[in-house]
Amino acid sequence: MILILLGAPGSGKGTQAKRLVARHGIPQLSTGDMLRAAVASASPLGSRVKSIMDRGDLVPDAVIEEIVTARIQESDCRNGFILDGAVRTVVQAEMIDRVLGKLGRALDAVVLLEVDENALLKRLETRIAEDRKAGRPVREDDTPETFRKRQDVYRAQTAPLIPYYERQGKLRRVDGMGTIETVAARIDAVLGATKSETASKGGTTG
Ligand code: AMP
Repeated sequence: MILILLGAPGSGKGTQAKRLVARHGIPQLSTGDMLRAAVASASPLGSRVKSIMDRGDLVPDAVIEEIVTARIQESDCRNGFILDGAVRTVVQAEMIDRVLGKLGRALDAVVLLEVDENALLKRLETRIAEDRKAGRPVREDDTPETFRKRQDVYRAQTAPLIPYYERQGKLRRVDGMGTIETVAARIDAVLGATKSETASKGGTTG
């Protein structure tokens, strides 16, 4: 199964992706995590993207193309993978379609986690407080100001993916408000429906 998780910053994509990894045995491909690892290792890529990430902007599409194209061809992606925050512009979506097409593969579904912005800001503040309490490092892009910036970037550059995937018939809207378990159950429900649709069309679900 090849899945994209779409949703505003702080909508819980990462948390739900981890659960889907455990449930389906396919890897989570988070470009945010990959880029943070590059920054932490002070690689040339890391030095290029650090300031962009710190201010809450998107890194260039070409960078994403390079890292995602390489990653999805690794052996653990054979049975599928979950793109978590890895597709954030229409150019990237077209690139993923093209790369998957070349590999003879296709996206099964795009799960959109729908959440309300005020609740997201509260969630972020709770997460920062919890991280501080637990002595965990707080991400540099986890400040209310950068968060607002990332929301603006989401609305301007990522939200156009909603009609893009709607036109492909792949978009599955999920109410992202509620406990982790409640949201997880909603995701399972829409993916169950996706699987039976794919099966009845004679396709495979990977
Ligand atoms: P995330 O952890 O997914 O919120 O990503 C953190 C930051 O990494 C984003 O604010 C962007 O600066 C950068 N980033 C991650 N994924 C992408 C992507 N697909 N396209 C562009 N920038 C990205």
